[in-house]
Formats: sequence, structure tokens, C-alpha cells
Amino acid sequence: MKIAICIKQVPDSWAEKKMAGGVLDRAGVDAVLNDLDEYAVEEALRIVEANSPTKEAGEASGHSITLISMGPERATEAIRKALSMGADDAILISDPALAGSDALATSLVLSEVIKKGNYDLVLCGTESTDARMSVIPAMISQRLGWAQLTFAGKVAANPASTTVEIERVTEFGNQVMSAKFPALLSVIEKINEPRYPSFKGIMAAKKKPITTMSLSDTGVSPSDVGASAAWSAVKDALPRPPRGAGVKLTDEGSGGDKLVEFLVEKRLA
Ligand SMILES: Cc1cc2nc3c(=O)[nH]c(=O)nc-3n(C[C@H](O)[C@H](O)[C@H](O)COP(=O)(O)OP(=O)(O)OC[C@H]3O[C@@H](n4cnc5c(N)ncnc54)[C@H](O)[C@@H]3O)c2cc1C
Repeated sequence: MKIAICIKQVPDSWAEKKMAGGVLDRAGVDAVLNDLDEYAVEEALRIVEANSPTKEAGEASGHSITLISMGPERATEAIRKALSMGADDAILISDPALAGSDALATSLVLSEVIKKGNYDLVLCGTESTDARMSVIPAMISQRLGWAQLTFAGKVAANPASTTVEIERVTEFGNQVMSAKFPALLSVIEKINEPRYPSFKGIMAAKKKPITTMSLSDTGVSPSDVGASAAWSAVKDALPRPPRGAGVKLTDEGSGGDKLVEFLVEKRLA
């Protein structure tokens, strides 16, 4: 099986964030591998382990896991983390022309790179913790014409029958869905417990290949990417107002009534 995982480097969730020129100032904050993409990496490793007699990822077992990321040069830090968990190699698409790209452009670039890889499965997180649009997986599968199995809480892949089955977690219950390879999956947060990279894994990751592609390597036109091609633009951005002190109700026997009045006034009841 050839598996690819789309991973994104995002600002650390705990870092103080600022807007600059209508967009998030990504340069000035610590950056990490998107939390949800860690689950996708872990799930890909488990798929390989479940289908590999040697229980190890790698070309020798007949399976491979490639990371694909679009972002600045600095994204190699997040890539190394995922490589140290056990992925085999990575592709970083990095080009100044890509700065400011929206979700449509991001999905276009990622899908063009995926097309070149002849993958059986592509895994994504459900959303990034920065832009949080939660649309890239659906957009990629639409562009590729592949089956999309999203919000997976359980995955079983069978290379012999070239099928993958998931349990799709929804608000109303779980759906069991299956598709033939090639398919695109997005995984939810609770699907697994991502492993910590071992010391051996961290050392091995230093030597694993990261191929850097420019925009022209992807075959995507510069007129389809970047801020000028974005279908939406941030017109204005204001910091969140500080929290007010709140309302204190003193219960002198009619506390319940006062509470109901308050909720009705706020249209909460
Ligand atoms: C008007 C506007 C301006 C923007 N300007 C900028 C900007 O200047 N700089 C900037 O960095 N962003 C910018 N963004 C955000 C950028 O559009 C999003 O980061 C990008 O479209 C992906 O959307 P998302 O992160 O919400 O993905 P989601 O759909 O929430 O992500 C789901 C999954 O898709 C995969 N994925 C998402 N993005 C990538 C990626 N880049 N590489 C690999 N896998 C990925 C991951 O598996 C992730 O878990 C802008 C957005 C808008 C609307």
C-alpha cells in the first residue's frame, strides 16, 4: 500500500496570536504539527502495522507512508516530527507565490502533488487548528474524483481486496462506510492515541528524505494561487473584546424567577 498523509504546520494553540494585515501573524509564534494531523499519522502507521508481517513501516514491508505539506520552509520542523513518529519520507511544497493561498488553492496544489504519487490511500486531519475551515479533505477528494470517507473514528484497510472501511462518527450515530482504493480519509481526534517519537525515531528522522517542490514542479499556474487568486479576503479583523464582569443575582427567595427572567431577556429560554 502507498499511503500519503497531508500534514500542516500551525501556530501553537497555546501561543498568544496576533492578526497582521487581516491574516494571522504566523511568523511571530511557535509552530507545531497540527494536532489532528498527528492522529492521521498515527492511524497510517497502524494501518501499515496491521497489514505488515514485520510490523514495521517502510518500503521493505511493501508499504510506504509519505507526508505531504504545503507551507513555508519552516514547515520542515513539523515534517521531522511526523517522520520521527515513523513515516518514511516527505514532500514539502514551498514557494513564495503560495503565500496567502485560500482553501481552494491549497487543495488544488495538494491534489496535483497527490496525482503524481499513485497512492492507494490519503489521510488528512479533520481540520487545522489555525484556519479551521475543515474543507481541504473534501476538496481534495472532489478534485481527484476519489471516494471520500470523512470523520473516521475507526479504519480498516485491506490491500488484498483493495478496500478500506471506516466507522464515520456523526452527531446522530456511527455510519459504516467502505470504498475501493484509491480513497481519501479524514480522521477525528479520538480515533487513537498518537505515539511519542522514540529516541531511535528522532535520530532516524534526521536522515529521512524530504523532497522540496516549487510551484512550477506541481504544474499549477501562479495565477491560481496566492492572495490575489483567493476567492475570499479578510476585510477587517478586530481583537476579541475583553470579557465583561457578568451579572450577579442575589437569591432572596425569588432567585429562580430572576434567573428565568434573565434567560428570557437574553433569549436563552
Ligand atoms: C482570506 C484568507 C487569507 C488567508 N491567508 C493566509 C496566509 O496568508 N497564509 C497562510 O498560511 N494561510 C492563509 N489562509 C489560510 C489558508 O487558506 C488555509 O490555511 C488553507 O486554505 C487550509 O485551510 P485549513 O487550514 O482551514 O484546512 P482544513 O480544511 O481545516 O484542514 C483539514 C486538513 O487538511 C490538511 N491540510 C490543510 N492545509 C494543509 C497544508 N497547507 N498542507 C498539507 N495539508 C493540509 C490537513 O490534513 C488538515 O488537518 C487564509 C485564509 C483565508 C480565507
